[in-house]
Amino acid sequence: MNILVINCGSSSLKFSVIEACSGKDLARGLFDKLGSETPCYKMESPLLEAPATGSLPCHAGYETALDTLAAYLASEQLQLRIDAIGHRIVHGGEHFTGACLLDQPAMDAVKSCSSLAPLHNPANLLGIESAKRHFPKLPQVGVFDTAFHQSIEPEAFLYPIPFELYQQHGIRRYGFHGSSHKYVASEAARILGKPLKQTSIISAHLGNGCSAAAIENGSCVDTTMGLTPLEGLVMGTRSGDLDPGVIFHLHRSLGLSIEEIDTLLNKKSGLLGLSQRSNDMRSLRQASAEGDVAAQRAVKIFTRRLAKSIAGLRSTISSCDALVFTGGIGENDVQTRAETLARLAHLGIQLDPAANASAGRGQNGIITQPDSPLKAIVIPTNEELMIARETAQLVGSN
Ligand code: AMP
Repeated sequence: MNILVINCGSSSLKFSVIEACSGKDLARGLFDKLGSETPCYKMESPLLEAPATGSLPCHAGYETALDTLAAYLASEQLQLRIDAIGHRIVHGGEHFTGACLLDQPAMDAVKSCSSLAPLHNPANLLGIESAKRHFPKLPQVGVFDTAFHQSIEPEAFLYPIPFELYQQHGIRRYGFHGSSHKYVASEAARILGKPLKQTSIISAHLGNGCSAAAIENGSCVDTTMGLTPLEGLVMGTRSGDLDPGVIFHLHRSLGLSIEEIDTLLNKKSGLLGLSQRSNDMRSLRQASAEGDVAAQRAVKIFTRRLAKSIAGLRSTISSCDALVFTGGIGENDVQTRAETLARLAHLGIQLDPAANASAGRGQNGIITQPDSPLKAIVIPTNEELMIARETAQLVGSN
């Protein structure tokens, strides 16, 4: 079954076409700067020699992007058959515990979650509505970043604030990066040669956004992100955990507005804020090697807090087969893995430095010594494949 996976951001549309059974990538691409004066695109397929690139008319949006995409997929050279569309949706609240056919009640439920993800869900909805108009005969499926975390129990998802805020307004931990955590859990089970239902891991998705999750017998029991993707680990530009009192202080004593504080914590903090240089781990590693003290401090805080969170998550599951690193940093940054694991020796992790140095580069790899009581594994994530598989599974069973 060929699945078109669509991920709509506020000004972009990312897509891939995946043969769900084999995981084969048939096409992929990005429409960028949608709604601006200079929208542009790049689409490519292993079946064609050259990528298709170009610009779209001024202020073109999802409609024009989907016109261009549909023409590309149906073009004489490509003629790709699409069987269903899987949409990445950021927030499914408590409505969705798995993938779901996007009929009207489901669309209404996604809409009702918009206040929890005002930057993401409205864009996802616009993309779905456009895709329904362009491909009216195809099943459209929603796959939610939050769904994998719906197995989390109240003792882990409730905040210690008045209970009625949860009951009346749904204020609780939801968690994100669900497709990534779910994908690496299934890959870890495969690598360890165990059924997923008997596999327990802690997965650390470390990209521009970062989150870790404790997964027991294949189900998520806790995670670091919360009501929004701001909680938890230090990220590229997001602060992660901090004393909520900092927000009151910024407002009352420094006179910052709520919008300014929102921007400060989401866009100017994390690695960027600490280093005053970059949100990009590669740049910070280079600057650290050249002696930049702020960059050195930023990465130290990043790994220290990561290790602290992983150790905390370990206490939420009774056994753990492996610690998994994924995402741009988790897959590629040898030093982040080494420095984090050095702090976690008490969990029974014995790093194999040579395996760590050669791991990643698009390949799975165990980076601990063969007799290490707890294994650490690098697993390149593939959220698109997870979305394609879940879409195919749902469509196949209907
Ligand atoms: P993602 O959001 O998953 O694309 O991850 C982005 C992050 O991965 C950025 O901080 C990049 O600097 C980091 N990253 C990507 N490649 C490397 C690499 N080879 N070494 C270190 N960090 C990397």
